Amino acid sequence: MREGIHPEYHQAKVICNCGNEFVTGSTKKEIHVEVCSKCHPFYTGQQKATAARGRIDKFNRKYGIKTEN
Ligand SMILES: [Zn+2]
Repeated sequence: MREGIHPEYHQAKVICNCGNEFVTGSTKKEIHVEVCSKCHPFYTGQQKATAARGRIDKFNRKYGIKTEN
């Protein structure tokens, strides 16, 4: 088997927009991502829920849906 046929497999350093860095296996040496497990909305639901709530309120107002909380 000659070299160069298969892509090289590295320990890739993943750098997220939030500043978090972690290592994963990849054919790339460095990967830049916009969200990671640390800042993904699923994991940081608390913080981003406020923004989502605002959008829902706007939607409800637009369609005349009244929400009472
Ligand atoms: Zn992140």
